[in-house]
Amino acid sequence: MALPAHPQSLDTDWGGLRQQVLASVEAHQEHLITFLRALIQARSLTGQEGAAAAVCAAKLRELSLDVDAWEIDGAQLRSHPAANPSRFSYAGRPNVVGRYKGAAGGGGRSLLLNGHVDVVSPEPLDAWTRDPWGGEVKDNRLYGRGAMDMKGGIACMIIALESVLAAGIRPAGDVLVECVIEEEEGVGNGTLGSLLRGYTADACIVTEGTHLQVQPAMRGALRWKITVPGSAAHGTEKWKGADAIEKGIIVWQALRHFEDAMSAIHTHPLYAGYPISIPVAPDMFQAGVWRGMVPPECVIEGYLETLPGQSTAYWEDALRAYLRQVAASDPWLSTHPPRLDITERYEAYEESLTDPFVALMQQIASDVTGEAATLNGLNGGCDAYIRHVYGNSPTVIFGPSGGGAHGADEYVSVDQLRDATRAMALAIVRWCGVA
Ligand SMILES: [Zn+2]
Repeated sequence: MALPAHPQSLDTDWGGLRQQVLASVEAHQEHLITFLRALIQARSLTGQEGAAAAVCAAKLRELSLDVDAWEIDGAQLRSHPAANPSRFSYAGRPNVVGRYKGAAGGGGRSLLLNGHVDVVSPEPLDAWTRDPWGGEVKDNRLYGRGAMDMKGGIACMIIALESVLAAGIRPAGDVLVECVIEEEEGVGNGTLGSLLRGYTADACIVTEGTHLQVQPAMRGALRWKITVPGSAAHGTEKWKGADAIEKGIIVWQALRHFEDAMSAIHTHPLYAGYPISIPVAPDMFQAGVWRGMVPPECVIEGYLETLPGQSTAYWEDALRAYLRQVAASDPWLSTHPPRLDITERYEAYEESLTDPFVALMQQIASDVTGEAATLNGLNGGCDAYIRHVYGNSPTVIFGPSGGGAHGADEYVSVDQLRDATRAMALAIVRWCGVA
């Protein structure tokens, strides 16, 4: 694939510049670890991101960037079709953007690097053998809640820019570093808040952990809630009621059939490596009010994960139609149909694989890993769709990984931290050019 045109100065001495960038990243290894540890120590469950945002803002000011730290306007956010429900106030938990103003005065291409500072709970704590808020390094791993998802990526993107600037290299285009809140719950809201504030660029990297694979696509998802009616009765006279657990199990089994049938029909080349094409994943099953009572209601909740190509509206219709069929085949449910509510959604996307930015990132990934870089899709969702679908920017997901994300003993590989920082630094100079 053809690479994008570069400013003349970059083409003439790319080899020298590359070495300069890589040497500077190497010299900033200690900064990378120190900064990531401080960021992990700033506990930041969704809704409590203030301290982590402050750590990012302080670092970005240290780099002499134009730093904007602001609280999202909830009313403005909710008026956008992509906004997801949030149970938190936006007070005291700012989004933070640092902007390096391109040396070409608007002449170079701009690049935006995005990461979310919020993390999921480390509970249950007794499953951990390390301090989830410690940032301890052991055997090439840095441990802590958020190490992989995704404070590691944030550290890489900030230290990548620091390394470039410290080497005396002046990117021609603007470089924006965006540290947002509210991705783990209310996915997309933090990034949408930044887009609505006017921050956008000619290309974006969302630095979620991808094991250094370039991912120009992600799944969309529907969060669904199915309420299955029953009818209460004394347990000794259960024939007078309708057991909502029994009816809920019928629905649960039907969802498994739906997953199998849909996965057989809907496939996508960037998702060929995953065992299930359309995961339908219940994660809550609640029923029962009192002992001795036939359960009057069952509520099942979960996600349906989509592929690029079909909107969440398509899948909502499909699921609704299917549940009607399921209800029609059961005497009770046919007259007491389950109710489907969609409580959260975000859209899948895929970037054109011939987009120059995708090609550039693929080449850079091969450069830093020494292996041919294959493209695939993120097996889940993140904020990248806001940048692609609503910001109209070519967007890839790329970052360092480890293990234990959303589980115990989460860590990020120190080697991958270094390689991801190299790649992001190279992406800054190659995409934005140098003055
Ligand atoms: Zn994440």
